Amino acid sequence: MKLSNSLQFNTENGMDIIDSILNAGNNPTIVIDKETFEILYQNKKALELFGNKVKFLCHEVFNTKEVPCMDCPIFGLSENTETKVRYNDILEKTVSWEFTNIKWHNGKMAILATLVETKDMSANVMVAATREDTYDGLDSLTDVPTYSAFYDNANKSIYSNLDKNYAVVVFDIDRFKTINDLYGMSKGDDALKHIASVLKDVFGDECNYGRMHSDMFAFYIDYKNKGEIIRHIEKIRKKIYNSEFEFVINTSYGIYLVEDLSVPINLMCDRAMIASRTAKGNVLKFCAFYDEQYREEMLKANEIEKDMNKALENEDFKMYLQPKYKLADDRLCGAEVLCRWLHPDKGIMPPMDFIPLFEKNGFILKLDEYMWEQACITIRKWMDEGRTPIPLSVNISRYHIQHNDLEAVFRKLIDKYQIPVELLTLEITESLFLDKPEELNRELVKLQKMGFKLEVDDFGAGFSSLNLIRNVTVDTIKIDKDFLDSEMASEKGKIVINHTIDMAKDLRLQVIAEGVETQEHVDFLKKSRCDIAQGYYFAKPMPLAEFNKLSF
Ligand code: C2E
Ligand code: CA
Ligand code: CA
Repeated sequence: MKLSNSLQFNTENGMDIIDSILNAGNNPTIVIDKETFEILYQNKKALELFGNKVKFLCHEVFNTKEVPCMDCPIFGLSENTETKVRYNDILEKTVSWEFTNIKWHNGKMAILATLVETKDMSANVMVAATREDTYDGLDSLTDVPTYSAFYDNANKSIYSNLDKNYAVVVFDIDRFKTINDLYGMSKGDDALKHIASVLKDVFGDECNYGRMHSDMFAFYIDYKNKGEIIRHIEKIRKKIYNSEFEFVINTSYGIYLVEDLSVPINLMCDRAMIASRTAKGNVLKFCAFYDEQYREEMLKANEIEKDMNKALENEDFKMYLQPKYKLADDRLCGAEVLCRWLHPDKGIMPPMDFIPLFEKNGFILKLDEYMWEQACITIRKWMDEGRTPIPLSVNISRYHIQHNDLEAVFRKLIDKYQIPVELLTLEITESLFLDKPEELNRELVKLQKMGFKLEVDDFGAGFSSLNLIRNVTVDTIKIDKDFLDSEMASEKGKIVINHTIDMAKDLRLQVIAEGVETQEHVDFLKKSRCDIAQGYYFAKPMPLAEFNKLSF
């Protein structure tokens, strides 16, 4: 199936027509949102080959299941139809994709990706094939070797100097997207050129470096001990940091030590990148070594991903409720909805074992919507049984803000179950407010207008606490449990908590303390005029049946 350039799909004739066009050929086809990389549609062939991937990010189909693709095939696509050859580790073979820019029926710019051939090719053939994308081996923006030239150079050096130890290092800019958003793409480009000039300056003509894609660069060096690698990285990092831009350029590094020569160079880079992700967002750690442990974690993650859809169908995700109490009179005044996975083999799994993964692969959209619906069903049932319903608060993962229409989802739930909106509180974690405060605020205002109460979860855990309550309209702050726990020991900590509560009161915000574990905590919080408490001192999260016994 060959599709013309700037194709437009509209729903005038119904989605059925689009469906029949895209199912007409024998090729697996998916449609990707150009902005969010989310899969908007897949035809039957793609469904057969990859399973249901709608709403997932496209790397779930192109490459590795764990991390976004190293050589993002849709990055920098031209307006024309382009063909790219990639090793696909879901299909375990090299395949050829044809990409066409289209306008999807909802007006979004999208990419139509069609799998046009699946020849068996070795990793080296793949490198050669992808090389056709470029003509002089130099990246046009930064004038450093492209990823394919980098792969070639690295292969040559590593295989012809078997007596030496090599390390492959991959790095990128922290929050590069924010730099682009705030200062413009051309400043972002300048930052990339600055990095290229640092690499040229440090390595000269060695050509042991390259730009992989976007803001990701790589280099390889021979080394005698690990300290030597870190010193190299520190030097590069400092030079990048010491720029004259009006913003700071922080970089995070992942290191892969070349020991097994059967690992292809692109996989070495992938592994270095996986390591670099563990250094991200940690101010004290700017580099990390790849460790086999990551591989195990990846395998574990793959296993969870294999089970998650079935678990949702089988209703293995259970709603647990943790009571909240008014400190003024120790009265039960609400409960937080927390998820537990009752896994048939692994037993009860806590959310920390799967939520972070679901936030990466997008499954959190489905799980959260399911949990919110469980909360609505519960409130409806209480009402039908003639009980006074207890307000429930649900967690909203950060992923929803950019990938979901929260207003529509909640409106649908409220309409379907006919429950008073004030019985559902939305908990939004503080770290969410860091990224795009305006966008988030817009979403939150919509929800508030519908009548929902908003709660800032984990307040005090990040750096943005004070700015946050100045800029964003929320109703309640929930002081982070770690903060309370560690700070309680010191007099200074008590002063901080006291002042946080005072300030919240002045701003007419309600205050909840979570992680309340001892009588001492309770006494202190009562004295500090904290409104509500939640924690093991009162009760742990429990299944609905148990909660019903406790509360009615
Ligand atoms: P969170 O929203 O901060 O939830 C409070 C966590 O603190 C819960 O952990 C709860 O069991 C725990 N906790 C409550 N009282 C105490 C206490 O006195 N001491 C200590 N040490 N811990 C206490 P849990 O259930 O393991 O959940 C962990 C996190 O997973 C939650 O943190 C929330 O961010 C996330 N989560 C849980 N369920 C969902 C869900 O359905 N959707 C989303 N998006 N996130 C969820
Ligand atoms: Ca919460
Ligand atoms: Ca919390």
